[in-house]
Amino acid sequence: MTDDIFSFNEMCRRENDVVLQRGMNFGLGKNYSVILMSRASNAPYRDRIEDGGITIIYEGHDMPRTKENSNPKSIDQQGSTPKGTLTQNGKFYKAAHDYKAKKRPAELVKVYEKIRPGIWTYNGVFKLTDSWKEKDDTRNVFMFKLEATEDSVLTNSNNPIDLKHRRIIPTWVKREVWKRDKGKCIKCGSTNNLHFDHVIPFSKGGASITPDNVQILCARHNIGKSDNIE
Ligand SMILES: [Zn+2]
Repeated sequence: MTDDIFSFNEMCRRENDVVLQRGMNFGLGKNYSVILMSRASNAPYRDRIEDGGITIIYEGHDMPRTKENSNPKSIDQQGSTPKGTLTQNGKFYKAAHDYKAKKRPAELVKVYEKIRPGIWTYNGVFKLTDSWKEKDDTRNVFMFKLEATEDSVLTNSNNPIDLKHRRIIPTWVKREVWKRDKGKCIKCGSTNNLHFDHVIPFSKGGASITPDNVQILCARHNIGKSDNIE
């Protein structure tokens, strides 16, 4: 569920035991891809959340470090290998352009975000709607545009997607709440199956942009809470 909190191992188990060593995993699931993002100040890529929390702009990834290429940050990111097979950048780029050319529906992408070392949160399902190359200070990099959509699109992907925008909880809010609630359910102190809960749900007018409206609950207390609301 969106806004669930995991350790790295739990996150991998959730994705069918695939070890998510790579940040970009095109076509990892049967009908979706997976990307990992990090907005820490020392993160290797410049990912950002825009439009008040409904869009992620995700930077493509560097070529692997090799003997010939000891500093991947100094060379252009590549869409294909020297042998001509598409890199992860190339696969996502092609999917975005095929979507724009109406040759296919948008690729669905599950996004996980690192909020602290070893602590990850699920940002939900996004549609890959655009990709371009741009120049950073010294070289060309790939950029990808991901628009937030409902988790339910993954289970009924034959239906046209109704883009009822939801909001991503900003990274700084999650970090702040994690620290304040000490990484535990505020009701019972459990450290398992945690979730960032909106005190007042977004659908009922609650804001996700301040730590005041976000708290950590375990699965049991989160389910108990939604029973009370219905
Ligand atoms: Zn609890």
